[in-house]
Amino acid sequence: MTELAAAPASTPAIEQANTFADLHLAPEILAAINAMGYSTPTPIQSQAIPLVLAARDLLAQAQTGTGKTAAFALPLLHRLRGFANTSTSPARHPVRALVLTPTRELAIQVHDSVVAYGKNLPLRSTVVYGGAGMQEQTAALRQGVEVLVATPGRLLDHAGSKVVNLSQVQFLVLDEADRMLDMGFLPDLKRILELLPKQRQTLLFSATFSDDILRLSGQFLHDPQKVEVARRNTAAETVEQVGYRVPEAEKLDALLRIVKQRGLTQAIVFTRTKLTADKLGRQLQKRGVSAAIIHGDKAQVERITALEGFKKGEIQLLVATDIAARGLDIAELPAVFNYELPYHAEDYVHRIGRTGRAGASGLAVSLIGKEEEKLLSGVERFIQRSLPIDTLPEAARPVAREPRSEPRAASPMPRPAADPMPAPEQPDALPNPGYKRGQKAAVCALFMPSPRSSS
Ligand code: AMP
Repeated sequence: MTELAAAPASTPAIEQANTFADLHLAPEILAAINAMGYSTPTPIQSQAIPLVLAARDLLAQAQTGTGKTAAFALPLLHRLRGFANTSTSPARHPVRALVLTPTRELAIQVHDSVVAYGKNLPLRSTVVYGGAGMQEQTAALRQGVEVLVATPGRLLDHAGSKVVNLSQVQFLVLDEADRMLDMGFLPDLKRILELLPKQRQTLLFSATFSDDILRLSGQFLHDPQKVEVARRNTAAETVEQVGYRVPEAEKLDALLRIVKQRGLTQAIVFTRTKLTADKLGRQLQKRGVSAAIIHGDKAQVERITALEGFKKGEIQLLVATDIAARGLDIAELPAVFNYELPYHAEDYVHRIGRTGRAGASGLAVSLIGKEEEKLLSGVERFIQRSLPIDTLPEAARPVAREPRSEPRAASPMPRPAADPMPAPEQPDALPNPGYKRGQKAAVCALFMPSPRSSS
């Protein structure tokens, strides 16, 4: 085993490609990109594509939403196009590119992209993941595919029953490698690596370059080029971060009050557990707020319905656990709430990265309970700054009546300056959820981890 690898050399200055044509991709691929409506490559694409075309191993730091899928899929398809053939013989379609992802949702998403980008090439592809029947996947694999997208556990199941042979894999992509490690896939990855030829090109994509990722890179990659794109959202940039110290029992009111005070049209509200997500979601719904809940125990159809509702602006508050929200790509989301601070400080950055995208301003509000001071310190250490703490906005009070300018009619009773009783608070009357003109909420993907046992 290689010890912790030295950080690979950074990418030499690469000229930024302004168009996809500058990247010298095959016309069939350019036509597909055109059909997708992409006009210019994203930074990760203009950096990674030339390196992949030049047969380099790649250690790429890029989060979901940066265009990372096309960054590996386009050059892979370009390099595989010579193998495209219309033969019906499975032997003519060995697996040549293997893409491993931590979750079935990401696997499906990546495969959809491969199909879209490769639609003008007679290359075959399929996707296999846990939590679904083996039969259909087996049938697709037996026919032969050049590109296979898979979650690790299910791939090993198929490899174990000799349904798939990986001895001709030339390209390996580890997508969201940090997630795969977090989810305990390292042993599976090692077993898969043993089934692949040593001579191959390996591309590793990860949101972070942790020591574990560098170690993995040292084991699996050969002299990789390092590519980093600025995270679209880092804790320090466009997101306004603020904390409120709120006892647990008052968090619901605090949340509604802040939403109202800030005039927030929509927000994701993060909880640590599925239990809190369920409870909070129900409380919000009871108070007349259009809220939906997504977490790992929700059926796929429920998650999709919730997201669609959120995308359309019908849902104002989407209550989510960390894992459920991973990969959610929502353009111009005005705010996120940490209803509970995460156990892992890194998740704080993932959470707040859902807002303030593409230079738009965003707001991240943390409601800090009495028991959460330690978690707050962890977050502050991680983001290397202290979180500004604000005081809660007052509960809504009626505005004192303006004194009339016209002469008052003689009245036997003096009129009070303001109602002595505050009007009942209406925290649930939230601002209109509809997006402003020109504002779009695009839900690009929802990635849920496959249950480890069945992945
Ligand atoms: P990804 O980071 O791969 O999940 O991609 C995020 C989203 O960006 C997906 O919806 C892609 O279809 C889209 N996308 C990828 N590349 C481009 C591009 N060059 N121009 C516009 N959209 C893109």
